[in-house]
Amino acid sequence: MTTKLITGGTVVSPTGQSLTDVLIEDEKIVALLEPGSTIVGNDLKQSVHQVLDATGKYVIPGGIDAHTHMQMPFGGTEACDTFETGTQAAAWGGTTTIIDFAIQRYGEKVMDGLAQWHEKAAGNCAIDYAFHQIIGGVDDDALAAMWQLPEEGVTSFKLFMAYPGVFYSDDAQILKAMQVSAELGLLTMMHAENGPVIDVLAAQLADAGKTTPYYHGVARAGQMEEEATHRAIMLADGTGAPLYIVHVSAKQAVAQISAARSRGRNVFGETCPQYLYLSLEDQLGAPGFEGAKWVCSTPLRSKAEQHHRELWRGLRTNELQLVSTDHCPFCFKGQKELGRDDFRLIPNGMGTVEHRLDLLYQGVVEGRISVERWVELIATTPARMFGMYGKKGVIAVGADADVVIYDPNGHTSIGLTKTHHMNMDHSSWEGFEVDGHVDTVISRGTVVVENDSFIGSKGHGQFVKRGFSQYLT
Ligand SMILES: [Zn+2]
Ligand SMILES: [Zn+2]
Repeated sequence: MTTKLITGGTVVSPTGQSLTDVLIEDEKIVALLEPGSTIVGNDLKQSVHQVLDATGKYVIPGGIDAHTHMQMPFGGTEACDTFETGTQAAAWGGTTTIIDFAIQRYGEKVMDGLAQWHEKAAGNCAIDYAFHQIIGGVDDDALAAMWQLPEEGVTSFKLFMAYPGVFYSDDAQILKAMQVSAELGLLTMMHAENGPVIDVLAAQLADAGKTTPYYHGVARAGQMEEEATHRAIMLADGTGAPLYIVHVSAKQAVAQISAARSRGRNVFGETCPQYLYLSLEDQLGAPGFEGAKWVCSTPLRSKAEQHHRELWRGLRTNELQLVSTDHCPFCFKGQKELGRDDFRLIPNGMGTVEHRLDLLYQGVVEGRISVERWVELIATTPARMFGMYGKKGVIAVGADADVVIYDPNGHTSIGLTKTHHMNMDHSSWEGFEVDGHVDTVISRGTVVVENDSFIGSKGHGQFVKRGFSQYLT
């Protein structure tokens, strides 16, 4: 038995904050105590194996990144973070659980896809991990296989209204999958963009010689996200399926989600740090081919249209419920470069898994969200949304000891030669200077990051079997 005491820190939860010491025994939190408490009859600082001083710092539940794609095949190449490098980078940034996406495509078996993801992840992760299931080929076989997902600990699946010929589902397929999900209580996660229309717009732009990364954002017009979000909501409405819209970037999509929620529907929305800070003008429109670094879908939106402000407002008012990264990194050399002559060939995705907590903490610094809401967005809501709450997402007796000591007075310089542990040849966040610093990261009772060094190990991370979403009515 190993015991640790986190002392002197301010424990933050979605409902408040208090000066509380946290006692950890092996992998679990076993007591929350008043600082200096002698209620157990002795001075704990003398009797525990390790004392972690958190004076002046926040003690928060470890971050949960509910949307990552480690070593995901896409566009003839593969996302360049492996489960090993990606989970290590996540740990550096205070994330102690990721939910990655297993993949099934046309002609493939769902359970084979899931087994393949287990194979990729097992023994390689520095932190705990769970899976959603991508169903990229909805057929009778896939619909039947969905019934097996809950017992596998996979209670959510993703469909695509974009990427015809790759992962795309038409409305009839979406309807059938949603009918199953309504019966089972599985959460339908939707990539909501009108793919067939986007492909036409993209081809027309390319034919007109508009081939730079900027036009990726032009082709994937906001109306196409708004329309698909609305259609997904209506299909969910008709079937009774709970719906979770991933990576919302357009303010018009926020309005659709908000309207559905105000009608009492089980509709939820996720956004990502890139949509809160980066833009069509500044990043996608960077000189030359530079913008390729920020080609992702949904795309970065126009800063002139004030999407940033509306997304932050949505996060504050709970029109949007959580912030994941959609971490899907590609190197510039050899990967992003595939689309040098045609933006349609640029692999979609960027790398953020390491920086989510810090980037969101800027919302606290800038007065956009409270520190309590920050914790809710990065840890507690993802745990509740995806059926892990109690074990994850909370500092409470009986929970896994996934804990971050966060220094609100610290500073983090992000960049390739500064803070950067993702397996990419550039940083999507180069030059960002942010207040706050991840000091200590504990994953199931083991300190994995301390004193600006990684002391965890490959294979420490375990697969988390998830229950059903705790937000469904
Ligand atoms: Zn997507
Ligand atoms: Zn994604």
